This record gives sequence, C-alpha cells and structure tokens, in this order.
Amino acid sequence: MIKGSCMCGEVTYAIKGEVGEITHCHCTTCRKAHGSAFSSVAGVQIDDFEFTSGKNQIKCYQSSSDKVRCFCSNCGSHIYAHKEGQKHYILRLGTLDDDPKVRPVNHIWVSLKAPWYDIEADCKLPKHDEWADER
Ligand SMILES: [Zn+2]
Ligand SMILES: [Zn+2]
Repeated sequence: MIKGSCMCGEVTYAIKGEVGEITHCHCTTCRKAHGSAFSSVAGVQIDDFEFTSGKNQIKCYQSSSDKVRCFCSNCGSHIYAHKEGQKHYILRLGTLDDDPKVRPVNHIWVSLKAPWYDIEADCKLPKHDEWADER
C-alpha cells in the first residue's frame, strides 16, 4: 500500500497497485493549478486507488473539455487529474506520504515552461536542508 494525503489531512488515500513512471509536466494548466514551475505526476489505475477518508471533500474542476482536476475543497491540494475514458488517474505526487519507488523519467510540455525556470540550471543550484541562511 502506498499512502497519500492532502495538506489539511481530511483527504487520505491508498494505492494497492503500482505507481507508473514519473513525469514533470510544465503545461500552463499544471503550473496554474499547482502554483509552481511544474507538476510531478504518474499514472495509477483507478481500480488500485481508493480514498480512505474525505472523499466527500473532493471537488473536481474541468480544466479542458475532456479532463478534470480533482482536489481537496478544504485546503486546495490537488490529488489527481482524470481524462475522460481513461482507466487511470494522473496522480499528483506532491500528496504522497510514502515513497512510490519509481523515479522521474522526463519533462513534458517544455514548450510551455515558465520563462524563469531553467531545467538545466536547476540541479546546480545550492541545496539547503532547510531554509537558506539569512544574511
Ligand atoms: Zn485538504
Ligand atoms: Zn500538465
């Protein structure tokens, strides 16, 4: 079982199967939905996914004609997206509490990437365990 939850903790879920390959999506709707440079996502079979609490808190926004993005209506954490007719959810990995044991394989929709975000430069930035020192 791989577990996840939203920011406020009302929505929790469990995945009994495997999590697919991880993709970083830079499309404009992902950036807007998550308020970030990109969204890290992976496919999970709908049959393998179950809400363990807070299912009634889930609200879905139709971001394109065949796609909904579903999130906790209390805290706004995005949990998954779903494209009409597909048998899998596109899980938003930031809500995972466990390690899915898969790693990112690519970046998609780089043509729509935020101009201030440089994929190549990113891994060379200084890394801090917590906040950067205040000077
Ligand atoms: Zn929540
Ligand atoms: Zn996207």
